[in-house]
Amino acid sequence: MEFRDLKKQYSVLKSEIDAGIAEVLTGARFISGPQVGELEKKLAEYVGVKHCITCANGTDAITLALMAWEIGAGDAVFVPDFTFFSTGECPAFAGAAPVFVDVEEETFNMDPVKLKQAIQTVIEEGKYTPKVVIAVDLFGLPADYTRLRPICEEYGLLLLEDGAQGFGGAIGDRMACSFGDISTTSFFPAKPLGCYGDGGAVFTDNDRWAALIRSYCVHGKSGNDKYNNIRIGMNSRLDTIQAAVLLAKLNAFKEYEVEKVNEAAELYTELLTNSPFALPKIPDGFLSSWAQYTIRLPETINRSILQSTLKAAGIPSMVYYAKPMHLQGAFEGTDSSNADCEVTERLCRTVLSLPIHPYITAEDVKKVCGCLMEYVNE
Ligand SMILES: *Cc1c(COP(=O)(O)O)cnc(C)c1O
Repeated sequence: MEFRDLKKQYSVLKSEIDAGIAEVLTGARFISGPQVGELEKKLAEYVGVKHCITCANGTDAITLALMAWEIGAGDAVFVPDFTFFSTGECPAFAGAAPVFVDVEEETFNMDPVKLKQAIQTVIEEGKYTPKVVIAVDLFGLPADYTRLRPICEEYGLLLLEDGAQGFGGAIGDRMACSFGDISTTSFFPAKPLGCYGDGGAVFTDNDRWAALIRSYCVHGKSGNDKYNNIRIGMNSRLDTIQAAVLLAKLNAFKEYEVEKVNEAAELYTELLTNSPFALPKIPDGFLSSWAQYTIRLPETINRSILQSTLKAAGIPSMVYYAKPMHLQGAFEGTDSSNADCEVTERLCRTVLSLPIHPYITAEDVKKVCGCLMEYVNE
């Protein structure tokens, strides 16, 4: 069994993907070919925002947003403590101070109450100026923007949605990657919508920021002239081949993949309901794109022994994430290491992510659940 079965997906979509790649090879416009613009148009339409700018990866996408907002030394950027490293790395890379905020245990996403406390503490201490909140759509579930947005407005902060894991999710009829003043995503192969290498995108309704980001991602170019450089930027573009792969995959993603992965998640939830495991909670009106299906183990269960038992039965599992951001070595000795995040610390001890993807069979989900139940009953 695969944790995320990209081989299976390719076998289903092979003819469309191969044809798309072949077209790029024939046209030989490997950088900024027509497929890139076509993809940006389709992604913006799907998400329901005015601008989509693709770039080299999801980490650059966050950095580009922070560049457009001129975030740097002396600024505080609020980031969940329970996330992938990039979310905290990018503000630190920009010279700002990431301030780590605890998450809600049932959704794994930023806790609005703790966010407000963290903002007030930063204001009282007076060392940094609060500027940005980066909310993460962890494991596919949009963060609680209906509660986060008013806090950003109250304190005059910009909201960045890190939708690297959240693409395809929704709250009501609004799609993930439309909730931030700027939103970002990643097309890393294992993400909900993945390409065959690195890739990313930035989404916004704001014309000025979109123009700045288009410039920053191609060496600070002026308009369409990449040899007239008016800003210090970077080289961060999505390859045309990756755009072709994404165009082929986007159809399947929209037509059935999000639906299928939700069916798999529902089956897990049904089969594990009367177990000692705590299951991921999807609040009313929210839709997850299930980048991960993550359960929480009772503290009495030894996670590594459970993982070995699953592995012996041919079942892969992963620990996302084993370490809170504020305890990462890169932040040692900085103000960012001073975070009080007990929920994140508990999650890091107890979470376990199970195999899930749109092509997993009901038999495989049943096998995983059977193995888990057998383990706890012994
Ligand atoms: C994967 C990921 C990123 C970074 O995306 P890359 O394309 O790998 O650079 C950022 N934030 C989160 C939450 C992620 O999961």
